[in-house]
This record gives sequence, structure tokens and C-alpha cells, in this order.
Amino acid sequence: MSRRCDVHKLKRVRKEGKQDIYKCQLCPAYYTESIVVGHQTTCWKCGRSFIMNVNSMLHKPMCGCQLGSKSKVSTTVKDAKQTVIDALLSKVGG
Ligand SMILES: [Zn+2]
Ligand SMILES: [Zn+2]
Repeated sequence: MSRRCDVHKLKRVRKEGKQDIYKCQLCPAYYTESIVVGHQTTCWKCGRSFIMNVNSMLHKPMCGCQLGSKSKVSTTVKDAKQTVIDALLSKVGG
């Protein structure tokens, strides 16, 4: 007899020649890649429960909290670009 947890903590398992499965680390439950979307899981990063979507289908599913650092990087890139543009404009404007 196995006890299923309230919210699964899914982790992707690669199967050679088959579609990936998302296996719970806390109980024997698992979902295939094609049905995992829409199921609740625990975020590996922040520990909150969330609903799996196509963007969270990672080796260790995350809720989107990890995107915070990504958008920070893109802001930095944008700032750097703006700095270059400002430098060019000030040259042209001379
Ligand atoms: Zn579970
Ligand atoms: Zn999270």
C-alpha cells in the first residue's frame, strides 16, 4: 500500500526511446510528459505548489520564480544597450 502526497514534487526522468515522465519524489505517482500539464507540483526553487504548464516542464519543475533573475539580466542588457546608444548619440550630437 502506498500513500500519495497532497502535492507531488515532480522530477523529470528520461526514458530512452520513450517520452519523458515526471515522477514524484515523495510517493510512487508519476505522469507522462503529455499529461503532466495542469497537475499540481511543488516548485524546486521556492517550495510553493503550482500548476504545471509548458514553461515549467524542466528537469526540476519551477513555478516561474526563477524567471525573476532572468528578467533582471535582460534589464541589465537593455541598460547596457541604452548606454551604448546614449554614447553614440552624444558623439553624433557632438
Ligand atoms: Zn507524490
Ligand atoms: Zn518557485
